[in-house]
Amino acid sequence: MSAIGFIGIGIMGEGMAARLITEGIAGSEDKPLVIWNRSSEKCTALVEKFPDKNLVVKGTPREVVEACAVTYSMLSTPEASKAVFEMEDDGVLAGVSEGKSIVDCATLAEVDMKRMNDAVVAKGGRFLEAPVSGSKAPAATGALIFLCAGSKDLFKEIENNGLNAMGKASHYFGNEVGRGTRAKLVVNSLMGTMLAAFGEALALSESVGLDPNKMIEIIGQGAIQSPVYALKGPKMIVKDHAPNFPLKHAHKDMALASEMAARAKVEFSVMDRAEELFRSAREDTELNVGDEDFSAIFEKIHKESDSEFSRQR
Ligand code: NAP
Repeated sequence: MSAIGFIGIGIMGEGMAARLITEGIAGSEDKPLVIWNRSSEKCTALVEKFPDKNLVVKGTPREVVEACAVTYSMLSTPEASKAVFEMEDDGVLAGVSEGKSIVDCATLAEVDMKRMNDAVVAKGGRFLEAPVSGSKAPAATGALIFLCAGSKDLFKEIENNGLNAMGKASHYFGNEVGRGTRAKLVVNSLMGTMLAAFGEALALSESVGLDPNKMIEIIGQGAIQSPVYALKGPKMIVKDHAPNFPLKHAHKDMALASEMAARAKVEFSVMDRAEELFRSAREDTELNVGDEDFSAIFEKIHKESDSEFSRQR
């Protein structure tokens, strides 16, 4: 059985599944890409995008797993993953049997990954946690960075036969599931904190009469340059927060990282403060930016500022 499964055709899953097709990993006559998404129209759109390829849409996650040797999953939150994984009779776990392999690419808590691993292994399957660093564009262009832990055999099998089609690098942290998630949370807590600090720097620039575009240029010329500043900065200034990485998910990751730091007894005050700022933005129903890109933290920074520029913006 050589079909490949993909569950969760969202912002990231859409690009990742497409890469499996365009890179020849799945979608051929003898190796279909078998997909499921809660909202079926996203499956339909993917099928329509590849009219000459062999895509099969299933009605339940269980049917995807049953049809495939390896199934990737890319769902939004711990709650969504649990719902789809443990769905009575029709979930991922219901389809797992001897020899089945599950690769979960979402950013969840360690406990979620461990629970899924234990359940899959108990039914004779193999599990790899494989959260990714990268966003919508890297997903669409095969430039993700996979942070894996779990079954080494499975990692070796798919490293150059799946992961390499969707990513530019794959790291294996050993067979202890949870270590990939730890690495992912470290990366994302830093990323969110960087964007919050960058947003404050831009708001300060605007408020003291500096040209923010000039400041983005200057920041980009020095040692503190970052692709995330160059990409998001110009859009933040013009309030373009079309979602590549929704703020609510960025906050989810930062909150998970803060919990991890507390458990590890690490001083984390700067990252914790950034997490609080993201949480307040997410919970601000008047601002309503939870579904916007995480660059919309800039709107919260301006809302909390009392400068003349911020008031008039
Ligand atoms: P997304 O587009 O918001 O959602 C992904 C999928 O989750 C969608 O297919 C959605 O189905 C499904 N889903 C949500 N709630 C569900 C539920 N209760 N039951 C069944 N399915 C449900 O998320 P994403 O941006 O692709 O992110 C996926 C994961 O990757 C997240 O863990 C995120 O933190 C992580 N990640 C994201 C990025 C990024 O830049 N976006 C980067 C790295 C990692 P529907 O289509 O039906 O809503």
